[in-house]
Amino acid sequence: MGNKDDPTFDFPEAKFVKGTELFRNCINIVVGKGNLNARILFVGEAPGRNEDEQGFPFVGAAGKNLDKLLEKVGLSLEDIYVANILKCRPPENRDPLPEEIRAHTPWLLKQIREMKPKVVCSLGNYATKFFLALGDVDLMDKQPGITTVHGKVLDITIGELSFRLIPLFHPAAIIYNRTKLTPLWEEDMGVVKTEIFNKESFKDKDEGNEMQKKLF
Ligand code: URA
Repeated sequence: MGNKDDPTFDFPEAKFVKGTELFRNCINIVVGKGNLNARILFVGEAPGRNEDEQGFPFVGAAGKNLDKLLEKVGLSLEDIYVANILKCRPPENRDPLPEEIRAHTPWLLKQIREMKPKVVCSLGNYATKFFLALGDVDLMDKQPGITTVHGKVLDITIGELSFRLIPLFHPAAIIYNRTKLTPLWEEDMGVVKTEIFNKESFKDKDEGNEMQKKLF
């Protein structure tokens, strides 16, 4: 029924995921959705029930809010790609365990290597702390939380991979505190857009002009 037998998931990073208990208990491996040629990669925490059933990230309540929040700032799934720290749903949506993050994030880092986004936006605490700890799961607890670092532009290097990180509040958190967090989201997305429109980042001038028309 799900995609767990997909024969293309046979690379080492997928095998690490398949070695976890989460894989045995899930319906689908949730790889990502959106535009792989986009400049912005959003990284959430883990699939929930709806994501597990449908095989795509952010299709439940948090996903509907993400769609609305993107629309508010003039973007859509065409402009971003979305993935998660974990590829499989934790039982009862419990927090990811350190060994699960260790086993699932090599696949995420492979996605970043291949996609080469201009900006990675970590959604909420788990994704943010993973990147701030430079992929060292043991150091995640020591990192500042999303309330402190949201909207900041941070240069991250993990092994041979370098990218710009802009942490954002998780769309699920915004549901519970719309009045306070929606304006902060809009402000932070302004920072993302500024970063994306950095002229150096476009392969050619036309692409830059197209993006400028769309974003402003
Ligand atoms: N929350 C997440 O962090 N990821 C999803 O895919 C869905 C909800």
